[in-house]
Amino acid sequence: MTETTCIRNAAWIVAWDAAAGRHVYLRDADLAFRGNSIVHVGKTYQGTADTTIDGRELMVMPGLVDIHSHPSTEPFFRGIREEHGVPAMFMSGLYERSFAFRTDEVGRRAGKTVAYCEMLRTGITTVADLSGNDPGWIDLAAQSGLRCFLAPGYASARWHLENEWQLKYVWDPAAGEQGLSDALALIRQARQHPSGRLCGIVFPAQIDTCTESLLRESWEAAQAEHVPFTTHCAQSVNEFNEMVSRHGKTPIRWARDIGILGEGCILGHAIFTDQHSWTAWHTRDDVRILAETGTSVAHCPSPFARYGHMLEDFGRYRRAGVNLGFGTDVAPHNLIEEMRLAAILARVAARDINTTSTAAIFHAATVGGATALGRDDIGRLAPGARADLVLVDLTNQFMRPARDPLRSLVYTAADRAVRGVFVDGEEVVNNGRVLTLDHDEALGVLTEAQARMMAETPRHDWAHRRAEEIVPLSLPLGE
Ligand SMILES: [Zn+2]
Repeated sequence: MTETTCIRNAAWIVAWDAAAGRHVYLRDADLAFRGNSIVHVGKTYQGTADTTIDGRELMVMPGLVDIHSHPSTEPFFRGIREEHGVPAMFMSGLYERSFAFRTDEVGRRAGKTVAYCEMLRTGITTVADLSGNDPGWIDLAAQSGLRCFLAPGYASARWHLENEWQLKYVWDPAAGEQGLSDALALIRQARQHPSGRLCGIVFPAQIDTCTESLLRESWEAAQAEHVPFTTHCAQSVNEFNEMVSRHGKTPIRWARDIGILGEGCILGHAIFTDQHSWTAWHTRDDVRILAETGTSVAHCPSPFARYGHMLEDFGRYRRAGVNLGFGTDVAPHNLIEEMRLAAILARVAARDINTTSTAAIFHAATVGGATALGRDDIGRLAPGARADLVLVDLTNQFMRPARDPLRSLVYTAADRAVRGVFVDGEEVVNNGRVLTLDHDEALGVLTEAQARMMAETPRHDWAHRRAEEIVPLSLPLGE
């Protein structure tokens, strides 16, 4: 028998108004779900419930949708990445870091576990996991309880450095073709998983590391499999300049011209467009191209803001008609903090408080992400939608006064107020604790793997530097 759970008298519910196409607040309302489906959102639920949750001290909101993350690598970079960048590569540390710091398989599994735990604890219920194709991934993703879109990355080339300013490429197109075929096999396997929570995304890793034919084949495969497509595009000035030198056009325009933009395409991160203040290119079309083609953008403000970069700006993209969703590209995998940073940076970039709003940001973090993934049954609380929901503790000191609970959550409390999380009707976080995975055990394994990774940097780094030379501690060690 399918069980029914009712959250009674919730002080606040962030409910979906389908007619208006937006979230609205409800006060003192009930939410009921049966199995994995929401059956009631509104005033008193008249049916019977097997389990009742007292909602008087809660805000119930839809689970957050994370459309861009790298769980197998990013948790390794805590204490490393926050202040690592290369001024001669227009501040980006991406290339130096991925060249010098290389993870092992045991560590990557722990990294995924840690990232999944951070996501669950911060109210993420759906994630696009852009990772390497390691054994055991499907089982781990299923065990996490997340709604997981597995996106195994592959490419026709690897980045290569011989100095601190020049981005070079070592090409191996056959490896890219093999990667696509392996990725499709994994995606098909994930979709057949009995949990029903796993899906896939076709993910040629970067616009600059894949041949035109691999990108086209990948796009066609995504269409044929009815799964989303994603790649990194317009994520650095080096990449922008590389694509301009190869093709005489911006990365976004080239992507359009080879036919890989459209509904079902998610670009991470579409920052360095032809109108960005760091590119100074002569066209003025990139944002319009994104909107016209129906391409979605995975917006991940943290990693870029740490370099001194920002999208220019969230509000402008939205007004142009671009669908935006959020990703947690780096640790912490905390979409609430990304929302806060996105709101602030949009206003800084536009020099205008009205360029965006908390409502627009929250829409992107839920419905925007769902739309990018081609789903109309997640990111919203409405009858018929999946029971992916977050219980926010209104008594948390950082929430009070909870005059406007979304503002309290986004601008102050963040994950501290996330009390419970349900995915597909299953409880995965209770009283702030993840029920599906062992966070502490994974952190132990990850800590050892990070030490191994750092010990190996002289072998990989172009200048054979130790990790401590590439990224010194924030304070010198005293006597
Ligand atoms: Zn990324």
